Amino acid sequence: MADDVPLADDPLDTPVQYVRGCGPRRAALLAKLDVLTVRDLLFLLPRDVVDLSVATSVEELDADTIHTVRGVVLDTDARSTRGGRILVKSIVETSSGTVRASFFNQRWMLKKLPPGTRVMLTGKPKRYDGAWEFSSPQVQVLEGEPGEPGAEDVGGIEPRYALTEGVNQRGLNMLATRAVEGFGQYICDPLPKAFRDQYGLPHLRDAAANLHAAQTLEDFNAARDRVLFDDLFEFQLGVALRRRLWRSGGKADPLPVSAKIDARIRRLFPFEFTDGQNQAVKEIAADLASEIAMHRLLQADVGAGKTVVALYAMLTAVAHGRQAVLMAPTEVLANQHWATVQHALAHSRVERRLLTGRLTAKKRKDLRARIKSGAVQMVIGTQALIQKGVEIPRLGVAVVDEQHKFGVAQRAAFSAGDRDPHVLVMTATPIPRSLALTQFGDLDVTTVRDLPPGRQPVVTSRVPGPQARQKTWHFIREKLDEGRQLYVICPKVGDASEANGDSDELSASVEATFKELVEGELKGYAVGLVHGRMDADKKDAAMSAFKTGETRVLVSTTVVEVGVDVPNATLMVIQKAESFGLSQLHQLRGRVARGARRGYCFLYTDQTSQTAAERLGVLERTTDGFQIAEADFAQRGPGHVLGTRQSGKSALRVADPQRDRELLEMARRRAFHLVETGSFDLPEWAMVKAEVLDRFGEVLELAKTG
Ligand code: ADP
Ligand code: MG
Repeated sequence: MADDVPLADDPLDTPVQYVRGCGPRRAALLAKLDVLTVRDLLFLLPRDVVDLSVATSVEELDADTIHTVRGVVLDTDARSTRGGRILVKSIVETSSGTVRASFFNQRWMLKKLPPGTRVMLTGKPKRYDGAWEFSSPQVQVLEGEPGEPGAEDVGGIEPRYALTEGVNQRGLNMLATRAVEGFGQYICDPLPKAFRDQYGLPHLRDAAANLHAAQTLEDFNAARDRVLFDDLFEFQLGVALRRRLWRSGGKADPLPVSAKIDARIRRLFPFEFTDGQNQAVKEIAADLASEIAMHRLLQADVGAGKTVVALYAMLTAVAHGRQAVLMAPTEVLANQHWATVQHALAHSRVERRLLTGRLTAKKRKDLRARIKSGAVQMVIGTQALIQKGVEIPRLGVAVVDEQHKFGVAQRAAFSAGDRDPHVLVMTATPIPRSLALTQFGDLDVTTVRDLPPGRQPVVTSRVPGPQARQKTWHFIREKLDEGRQLYVICPKVGDASEANGDSDELSASVEATFKELVEGELKGYAVGLVHGRMDADKKDAAMSAFKTGETRVLVSTTVVEVGVDVPNATLMVIQKAESFGLSQLHQLRGRVARGARRGYCFLYTDQTSQTAAERLGVLERTTDGFQIAEADFAQRGPGHVLGTRQSGKSALRVADPQRDRELLEMARRRAFHLVETGSFDLPEWAMVKAEVLDRFGEVLELAKTG
C-alpha cells in the first residue's frame, strides 16, 4: 500500500480508489457494482468460477467420454451444409496438440470464438481424419490476453464476477487481488477463534484471498461459504435476539381455553373443524395459556378456513373479558373479514366494529372512544387500526392477515402498555421453509394443509391464441345461460382506447377489455366493471350488483383477489395470465372454488412458447398452493411473490435463502444456540453483536435489546 493512502478508522473502509492500480476513474465504475470501499472489493463474491484444473491434455482424450480441454482459438469459420444448416467449425490449439470443435446451427459461435480467444471446451470428443473433434461442446470463454505465454498451463480457479461497462473480468480480479495484498493484513475476524475451529471455518483473511485467487475449487468454496455464512449467521442472530426479546420482554395475560369456552366457540359454526383447523386451534390454545405472548404464523392455502381459526383466538380473548383485533392489508379484505365475522357471530352479542380509513372523522372519533372505553370487544380493520390515537387498552389477541404486505414493524405495533397481546399472523401464500426462517424466523409456525370437505378442485386450463378463446367463450356463454356468473380479471386498469378493435391480441387493460366484451363475446349480458381507480362508492355499487346477480359478469382488476365471496360465480377468465405470478393466479382462482358447484378458471394468453406453457402448466397440474408457491419463488424470487421489499432476501447482503438453504439452516441452529444459551452475551462476541445491531437493529426492532 502506498504511503499517501488516507487510512480510515478502519482501513477496510478506505475508498476503493486507493487500492493500487484503481484510481478515481475506475472507482467510479466500481461504484456501479456497489463496490465503494476496500472492504466491498475484498469480499466481492464472484458469480461463479471456472476450475481450470479440470482440463486434460490431448493425449489423454478417448472417444465417448466427457473431457475438458483448454486452449486458444486459431480459426473459426462457418459454412452451409447440404441440408441447409449452418456449421461453425473452430480449431483450438492446446499446449498438447490441436482439437476441433463443431457447432450446428449456432451461428453466434462465429462471434463468440474469434481467433485468439482462450476457451475451455467440454464434451465427448470423436476421432475424425486423425484429429479429435468435439461436436457441440459446452464452451467457456476464458479471460486473458491472446497469446500470453504459458497461459494455457496455469491451473487454479478463475473467478467470474458480475460486470459493468468498462470493467472486465481480468481487471476486476487484478484489483481484488491487489486489495488483498494491500489491505488483507487489516482484516480481523469477528468470529471467536474457538468458534471458527469448532466448525472448521477459514479465517476471514484467507477467505478474502481465496475468493479471488484460490488454487483449488475446495478453497474457493470454503471462502465463498464463509462469506455467505457470515451474512446468514448475522441475520439469524438478529432473528434469535428478536425472539428472545419478545419472550423475555413484556408479559401477556394468560388466556386459557376452558372446555366451556371451546364448546361455546365451536357452536357458532355450522360445520366441524377440519383436522388442520383442530391442530391449529390446539397449538394456539397452548400459546394463549402462557404468559409469554403468542407469536405464531398460520399458513394455509386459500379456502382452508383461516378466518375460523382467527376467530377462535379472538373469541377466546373476548371470553376472558379482553379485546381482540383483526388487521387486513386492504379495505376490500377488511370488508370481507367483516362479512365473515358478521355471519359467524349473527347470534352472538359480542360488540364488534369495522374500522377503516373510510369512516368519517366524526364516526372514527366516536369509535375510538368506544374502543378505548372497552365497550367494543372486537375490531376488524385496516392499518387505520394502528394509527396514532387508536388505543385498545384491553387488547388480548391481535390477528394480522397477510402480514408480509405489512412490515415487521407493524407486527409489533400492537404491543403497547405493560401487557403484550398474543399475536397471530396469517398468510395464504404458503411460505417455503427457507423463507419462513428468514422473514418470519422469530415466529412459531402452524401449517394447515387440508381443505374443508367437499371442495372440488377448480378446473384450470391454459387458453392460448384466438381460436382456443372462441371455443372457450362458447362454453362460458352456455354456463352463463345456466345461471352461473363470471369474473374476467385483467392485469391493469389502462384505458378504453387501448381496445384492440380488429386485432386478435389480448388486451391487458380492464377498461379496454370491458369495452371489447360488451361489444363482442358478451353482447347482451349484464356486465359490470370494477377497478382500484374507481371511487369507493362506484366500486361498492359494482361489487354488490355482482353479488346480487344483477350483473352476470364482473370485469375487474385484482381488487377481487381477496375480495368478494359469490358462491354462484364459478367461472373465471384471466386476461394475459402470464403477467401474473403463479401464487397470485392460484389466489385468484380460489374465488371460484367457494360453493358446491365446480369452478372453472381459464388462463388466456398469447404466449405460445414451450416455457410459457410450462410455467402456467403448473396451475393446470396442481391445486396445492404449497407446490405452486415453491415454483413461483423459484421463478420470480420471494420478494416479488410476497409483494414486499422487506423479504428475508433483501435484508441479506449476498446470501440467498433458497439457494443457500443448507447454510441457512446451519447458521440458524448455531445462532439460536448461541443466543439461547447466553454465550452470545460474552465479551468475545461483542464485535459480532455490534454488527448485528447495526445491520438489523432497525428492521427487527431490536433497539430494546441494547
Ligand atoms: P381462508 O381465509 O383460509 O381462505 P376462509 O376462512 O375464508 O378461508 O374459509 C373459506 C370458506 O370455507 C368459508 O366460507 C368458511 O365458512 C368455510 N369453512 C371454513 N372452515 C370450514 C370447515 N371446517 N368446514 C366447512 N366449511 C368451512
Ligand atoms: Mg380468508
